[in-house]
Parts: sequence; structure tokens; C-alpha cells
Amino acid sequence: MAHSKALLVLENFIGGTFVPCSSYIDSYNPSTGDVYCRVPDSGKEEVEAAVKAAKDAFPIWSSKSPLERSQILNKLADLIEHDLEAFAQAESKDQGKTITFARTVDIPRAVYNFRFFASSILHHVTECTEMPTMGCVHYTSRAPVGVAGLISPWNLPLYLLTWKIAPAIACGNTVVAKPSEMTSVTAWMMCKLLEKAGVPAGVVNIVFGTGTKAGEALVCHPDVPLISFTGSTLTAQRIAEKSAPHCKRLSLELGGKNPAIIFNDADLSQCIPTTVRSSFANQGEICLCTSRIFVQREIYNEFLKRFVAEAKKWKTGNPSDPTMDVGALISKEHLQKVRNYVKKAQAEGARVLCGEGVDPLALPPGNQKGYFMLPTVIAEVKDESCCMQEEIFGPVTCVVAFDTEEEVIRRANGVKYGLAATVWSSNVGRVHRVAHRLQSGLVWTNCWLVRDLNLPFGGMKASGIGREGAKDSYEFFTEVKTITIKH
Ligand code: NAD
Repeated sequence: MAHSKALLVLENFIGGTFVPCSSYIDSYNPSTGDVYCRVPDSGKEEVEAAVKAAKDAFPIWSSKSPLERSQILNKLADLIEHDLEAFAQAESKDQGKTITFARTVDIPRAVYNFRFFASSILHHVTECTEMPTMGCVHYTSRAPVGVAGLISPWNLPLYLLTWKIAPAIACGNTVVAKPSEMTSVTAWMMCKLLEKAGVPAGVVNIVFGTGTKAGEALVCHPDVPLISFTGSTLTAQRIAEKSAPHCKRLSLELGGKNPAIIFNDADLSQCIPTTVRSSFANQGEICLCTSRIFVQREIYNEFLKRFVAEAKKWKTGNPSDPTMDVGALISKEHLQKVRNYVKKAQAEGARVLCGEGVDPLALPPGNQKGYFMLPTVIAEVKDESCCMQEEIFGPVTCVVAFDTEEEVIRRANGVKYGLAATVWSSNVGRVHRVAHRLQSGLVWTNCWLVRDLNLPFGGMKASGIGREGAKDSYEFFTEVKTITIKH
């Protein structure tokens, strides 16, 4: 394996101090294939120290007023925003995503996560009911739970980590977070800003390392009563198993196999570019990406022709080039896995209409060992094929035809996942009808990825347990108590 000259070496952040680790793992730059960073390979000992620091900080942090915490979160948002370009460059290098995506989506959203929860924590009200005949008033009160364990994936590293840290600390919890071992750099950079923002030592602790060592140590720690996890369904099953003996509170945001349903009255001029974006944005490495496109038969051929032409316009290459639309996949192994799905589909008789590997000679010399793949469109795939059933999590999407509304609802629901769906039609009645019957935590009609963070986010079936959002995260990160007063 190639080692670049000056390796970046990360340290854990525990109790407000950077702490070196006794062993490290290599982290690759996906667009060059070089090791460029060393990430602590933390285990039980480091998690123990971080949980202790978080426990020690809890009494002070939880007793601050929501307004005091809100001001600190806003300050942290300002500091990240001030360094937006440095964060975006780091995220792009670490994850392989394009610099444009990091600049316009990942880091602005990380900033907004802190601002959003800084605001929403000021506006919650608890419940109150009266029982006049009994002379009683009931009300609820909410309090932070304690030390929250936060585990996040590699696809939207700082974006998803801050989507957990912000509500957890806004509610008064202290946290021990473990980012993905493949994308740890921006979390480490954020730690450098915490003191300046006024976050007291021990409120945010970050332990870097693998899921099986650092992640499981956190999940199994008796002093961590809640775990918020975003990642794969397989890992979630393991986390649920490991945390069961402690009866931990779990929030699980997992994978998807998201359908787009395109009726013959859809506005294709809007639908086609949006569906290309929903299939290939961030190399298809977003849990909400479309990977099964159902097109009504009458417009199937026209759709396919225009969709493939649009997909071919997306340029794949050096992620730091702002004219690129698609960067590198996260790892060599992941690229192999994604390409194997395409091979399996071909072996089953499906047609690959565009995409697959990038000719290394077409890439700049420094990127020829990077993990690149073109936006890939597959047609005539059977519903039972693994390409239509399993999450591929890469720049691959399948297009198939359907005839009736009833049929497409059944087929769209015919997978184990239920995260997100899109419906394209100009018939308002149909749009509502179909949205109601889809087994999906999120349904976008005539658009994709338009989010109001106030509202619940999350999946049904194997896509998760629980929801995130202003009210949902508040409820997850607080313990409720019902108090009855007889007067
Ligand atoms: P992953 O499950 O492999 O890893 C996620 C995190 O869990 C990482 O930090 C990893 O180190 C840790 N982990 C792994 N094994 C663990 C264990 N035994 N105990 C504790 N922690 C463990 O997922 P990934 O490959 O990093 O991310 C891709 C997956 O995440 C996809 O399935 C994608 O759909 C999903 N995802 C879901 C959402 C959502 O909001 N629903 C958002 C983004 C990604």
C-alpha cells in the first residue's frame, strides 16, 4: 500500500484534551488510493476514559439553561462556518465526494444542524392537563438522559455526526461520539473549535476507531443509557443485540432501497434531472438515493432514452475539481462490491445502458488508482434480483416498467426496506393516494431531498427504529416524567 509523505495523525478528544492512542489504523484518500491519515484504533480503555469525562461533565452542562446552551451551539456553528472551506476540502479528501458537494451540502448542513437545534431547544413546551373533578393538574417535565453514545457512518461524515451531537447537547446531555473509522478527519477538526465556542471540557468527547472495537465498547458500556446510530441494517442488528442486556434506548437510522415511481403524466423536464441527481448525488452514497425507478409503460422508452442521456452528462473524476459531478467511492472494497452487483445483473440478463468503470488513463495521473465509477443505469432487472432488493449504495440505479397504480405500489413495497420514496405525477389525487400507501418513512412527490428539519426523519421496516427531527430528537434525548398535583 502506498503511504504519502506527511501523514495526518489524529488523536482522540477526551475531557477537552487531545489524547494520543497506543495503536492506529490507516485511512485512505479514495481519489488517489494513498494512505494519508492515521486514525486512533481505540478500544475499551479509551471509551472508558471518554465515558468518565462525559459523566463528570454532565452535572454542569445539564444544569445550564437552554438559552445558555443555545448560545454555545450558535457560536460553534459560526466557527465551523468561518472555516467552511477548510472543512469542505478535508471532507472531500477523506470521503472522496466532490468539493462542490462538500462545500454546498455537507458543511453548510453541519453548520445548520447546530443553528437549528440551538433555536428549536428554546421553543419546546411540555404537556399539561386538568382533572377538575379530582382537583388535579397533570404536567410533564423533560430532562436530559445522561451520556449519549453516538455512532455515525462514512457517507456524510460531519453532516450526520452533527445531526446527532447538536440535539444531544442542546437537550443537556453529554456525549461520546464515534465517527466512521474511514472518515474521521472533520470530526477531529471540529474538536479544535469546541473550547473557543464555550463547550465545557467533557461535554463532547470523540473516540476514533473501528465499529467492532470502539463502537461495541460504547454500545456495551453500562453508563451510556442511549445509543443513536446511523449506518447499515446489519450493524444495527448487532447493536440491538449487544445493548439488549442493558435495556438501552436506541435510535436506528439505517439503509434503504428507495423507489422512484414515475407516472405517465409526470413533468419529465423536472423529473429526469432530479431523478439523475437522486440516483447519483454523492456517488449514490446517500441512504436516500433512488435505486429502483418504476416508469409507467407508456413513457418508458422515452424516459429511458432521456434519463441515460442526462446520466451521461455527469462527469466523474478528481473530486477537488469543481466541475466534477461524481467523485470517488469510499474504498476499494466498496467499489468492488458495487461493481459486482452490476456483474450479477448482467449475468441475469439485465442491460447496462451506461456507466461502470472509469478508464484510468482518462483521469489525472494522481487519480489513476482512485476508486471511481461512472453513473450506471441498468434496465430490465427482475424485481427479485439482488440489484432490486439489496442496498447497493453506489452510483447504480435500475429502471423498470409498470402498468398500473396498484401494481407499482405492491412492487415498490416489495423490499425489506422502507426509508424514502419519490412519486412523480401531475394528478394531485394520485400523488396523495400513492404516498399514503407506500411503506416508507419519507415520500417526496415531484421533488427529492427537500427537508424541513422540524419534521420526522427516518425509516420503517428494516430502515430503522425511531425518528430524528426537532420534536423527535428532543424526545429521544430527554427522559419524560408525568407529575400530578392535587390542589
Ligand atoms: P456501518 O453500519 O458499517 O457503520 C456505521 C458506523 O457503525 C461506523 O462508525 C462503524 O464503525 C460503526 N460500527 C460498525 N460495526 C459496529 C458494531 N458492531 N458496534 C458498534 N458500531 C459499529 O455503515 P457504513 O458502511 O458506515 O454506512 C453506510 C450505511 O449507512 C448504509 O446502509 C446507509 O444506508 C446507512 N445510512 C443511513 C442513513 C439514514 O439516515 N437512514 C444515513 C446515512 C447512511
